[in-house]
Amino acid sequence: QLENVGFIGLGNMGSHMARNLITAGYKVTVHDINENSMKKFSEDGIPTKQSPLEVSESSDVIITMLPSSTHVLEVYNGPNGLLCRGERLGPWLYIDSSTVDPQTSRKISTAISRCLLKEKKGYAESPKILDAPVSGGVPAAEAGKLTFMVGGLEEAYLAAKPLLQAMGEKTIYCGGAGNGSAAKICNNMAMAISMLGVSEAFALGQNLGIKATTLTDIFNCSSARCWSSDTYNPVPGVMEGVPSSRNYSGGFTSKLMAKDLDLAMASASGVGFKCPMGSNALEIYRKLCEDGCELKDFSCAFRHYYSGKNE
Ligand code: NAD
Repeated sequence: QLENVGFIGLGNMGSHMARNLITAGYKVTVHDINENSMKKFSEDGIPTKQSPLEVSESSDVIITMLPSSTHVLEVYNGPNGLLCRGERLGPWLYIDSSTVDPQTSRKISTAISRCLLKEKKGYAESPKILDAPVSGGVPAAEAGKLTFMVGGLEEAYLAAKPLLQAMGEKTIYCGGAGNGSAAKICNNMAMAISMLGVSEAFALGQNLGIKATTLTDIFNCSSARCWSSDTYNPVPGVMEGVPSSRNYSGGFTSKLMAKDLDLAMASASGVGFKCPMGSNALEIYRKLCEDGCELKDFSCAFRHYYSGKNE
């Protein structure tokens, strides 16, 4: 039974995910290097621990939700990290929901498969790991409506499914270790490129005298329809409740988009594959960050074109 959950990384996403697990009845113990994030949990009577190792001592399953590969490797391999005791681990299952490159997920998976369980607890002898990054952003994390893309052994995926369903609406099994991470960075690369495509087309349309609202109506019943045009429109005033209508605040930052594109490009070069559109998109998002938009939603790329900076 996966009843005792150790949750590491209580940021914008992780804090909501951990709360949803608690609401679903799991016994959750948390850790974060930020004391303030932990305090919010300890004030509600949720056990907090000072290191990943301490969390692992009282958990059947560990979930990590950390900023990047470096942080994930530190939590697994660092001093007082999840694997610092070497061969014999307590938890049976490890789930990394951070967005990282597939190589990092596979590296950790290899390290874990060399370890053994302290006690068998009725499971197979070696602990399992899943890479299970998410799509949906902070509102979906809060509402328990995330989509999980999961890589690792299918047996582990099936065991983890009820846990993932306490935090999300959809879980999709993607195949072996690293495939969840691969799916996530491919999704985000396509999203980055389509947002730029839609933004560029809207900017051109406005320069040619077509109103963005008219062009949106046309796109949304024509072949250019996509998430960036019908759900997350980048032009201020076209849709309510999206970042473009609140000066590109909230949402998914340009900095995170640049990070995800970086992962995609590094992974592509790792397998000798060229992604010209992806690398162009990365350059644009890096430039947006340098221009002071790193904490603005990534749809602010529209403003980058509309303000004439691309002349
Ligand atoms: P965040 O920066 O808000 O939270 C990360 C948390 O990890 C912080 O509380 C930080 O203190 C903690 N942390 C960092 N290093 C640590 C360590 N060594 N030990 C323990 N805790 C540590 O990030 P977030 O927005 O919650 O995103 C988390 C992950 O989810 C990222 O990989 C991100 O790309 C991905 N993601 C984010 C969104 C989004 O909209 N924010 C959407 C989908 C996926």
